[in-house]
Amino acid sequence: MNRLRANSLHPCNVTITIDLEDPRPNPGLPDSFVGATRELIDLLAELKVSATFFVIADLATSHPELVRGIADAGHEIALHGLDHTPLTSLTPTKFDQQTRRAKAIIEEITGRGVTGFRAPIFSLTPATLWAESLLTDQGFSYSSSLLPGRHPFFNFADAPTEPFRWPSGLLEIPSPLTQLGPLDLPFLGGIYFRYLPYWYIRRCLDAADATQSLWFYSHPHDFDHRESFYRIKNTPYWMSLLLWLNRKGTLGKLRRLLKEPAITIAAPFADQVASGKFAQAATFQPAAAAPVSPPEC
Ligand SMILES: [Zn+2]
Repeated sequence: MNRLRANSLHPCNVTITIDLEDPRPNPGLPDSFVGATRELIDLLAELKVSATFFVIADLATSHPELVRGIADAGHEIALHGLDHTPLTSLTPTKFDQQTRRAKAIIEEITGRGVTGFRAPIFSLTPATLWAESLLTDQGFSYSSSLLPGRHPFFNFADAPTEPFRWPSGLLEIPSPLTQLGPLDLPFLGGIYFRYLPYWYIRRCLDAADATQSLWFYSHPHDFDHRESFYRIKNTPYWMSLLLWLNRKGTLGKLRRLLKEPAITIAAPFADQVASGKFAQAATFQPAAAAPVSPPEC
């Protein structure tokens, strides 16, 4: 323990991102994620951190004042989809229609343009490559939608680990990963950030490749320790339980991360893109596109 404490973290620059979603199986349940989101916004304000919020458009429709408040607090509002359907369950046509609608909903609510997109559950994979050109056509300038490694759910194992451009010109900012046995895990967010010990996360940050863009991601439910248990739609019982447990310490853990002397917090992604930070990103030419996946719902 003392040895770990004595280890200094090398300087790193981390972008803070939040996926603002409402996983309640029905809207009749208490929306305690609103209070959890406000606690998170208060922490960011206290530490003078501006973040990128990837917002589900249906949530923006049901809670417009929450989303407007986040934008007014100086955070970037980007898009996380209309209703959190993974890209793998959509056809290109459906994705195109839904995303255009979702972008318009959020722009109407905030009065600001939306330039960033994150696919639900990192579902930009070789099977959903069609999405990148559609996003460019719709005016998005960047995406942060894939896991460039081996993961049991969704992954794009051949994608570069550093920011790159798709053939359409869209910038992709892949998730930072750490290797754990046969898997590559997005250690700096979600359930991984919640369950992995802090010293391990710190060690992963210290070992990160300098070419990677380091970004943290989380959801209101990661902090929402007051929420009652419920089975999440289309999710096994054990996964719902795993997602419900171990939430109470997350806000304190994030505070600790944000206060690490070696960590500087980057501006929201849109500002980084506008500043030309990724101007030199190389174009990635993926292998031949996989056939279009059939819709599952
Ligand atoms: Zn999500």
